[in-house]
Amino acid sequence: MTTEHPPRWTLVIHGGAGIITRGVLTPEQDAGARAGLTRALEAGGAVLAGGGAAIDAVEAAVRVLEDDAHFNSARGAVLTFEGKVELDAAIMDGRDRSAGAVAGVSAARNPVTLARAVKDCSPHVLLTGAGADTFAREQGVEQAGEDWFVIPERRAQLAAMKESEDWFDVDMKYGTVGAVACDMNGHVAAATSTGGVTGKRWGRVGDSPLIGAGTYADDRACAVSATGSGEFFIRESVGHEIGARVRMLGEPLQVAADAVMAGVAALGGSGGVIVTGSAGEAVWSFTTKGMYRGQVSADGEAKIAIYADEG
Ligand code: ASP
Repeated sequence: MTTEHPPRWTLVIHGGAGIITRGVLTPEQDAGARAGLTRALEAGGAVLAGGGAAIDAVEAAVRVLEDDAHFNSARGAVLTFEGKVELDAAIMDGRDRSAGAVAGVSAARNPVTLARAVKDCSPHVLLTGAGADTFAREQGVEQAGEDWFVIPERRAQLAAMKESEDWFDVDMKYGTVGAVACDMNGHVAAATSTGGVTGKRWGRVGDSPLIGAGTYADDRACAVSATGSGEFFIRESVGHEIGARVRMLGEPLQVAADAVMAGVAALGGSGGVIVTGSAGEAVWSFTTKGMYRGQVSADGEAKIAIYADEG
């Protein structure tokens, strides 16, 4: 007799972590972010429900969030010290650990799709700056300019930061986005996209586009997308560390994610991760007052939450 497992899939998304409390967000911002998260779950969930691959689902979900100015990625990205956008993104397929990433780009409307092109259409994993923008044009990736990416709120946030003494404040984060998924065939994938941190300069790159830090996927373990104070996530190798604990110690996802986030906190960092395993398990773990987040799976309703005390 053969035992057939019901088809099962899971998608988890985040829209950034930080000092996000009920007092900080206006009702409009709260509702707008929840609507954006819902649309992203719908886009990625439709791929998975139709039998599509996890890698396509995470790209679809992140594209929706990149186009949504409530979050710090592509449209609505935070600005550099010079008032420009420098966008970072990565995507990874747990089937073969193939990966693509871009850092400091400013011409692709959807950096996650450019990262996907790096993975699928180049022999490389990480392209940066002007070279990556040239690659985007050559690949026919949809282009966008400052008129699309830059919103007035980010100019105001940069001006406020420049007036403050502490011009590089790792807590000034406004919603990096990410997605992790497990598809009906038990394959996992992860994607992350961000504008980084307000006022960054000197070509600063955070954890998001670094495979093994802010983004990681391995069918033998799990898929991880992170958000938070990137320097600490790089030093802790968060994505790979969670995967390694799951693969080599056999830890449940929640145990591994909590342990690695405790490691980030011990270094002085803050933020969160979303994680899916190849049996369709899904968890999140964060050290901040809030994290924009959502989950949908084959056997349940979509869940959206922002504040730490929600679901
Ligand atoms: N991790 C991102 C970075 O350091 C920022 C964030 O997640 O808010 O670039």
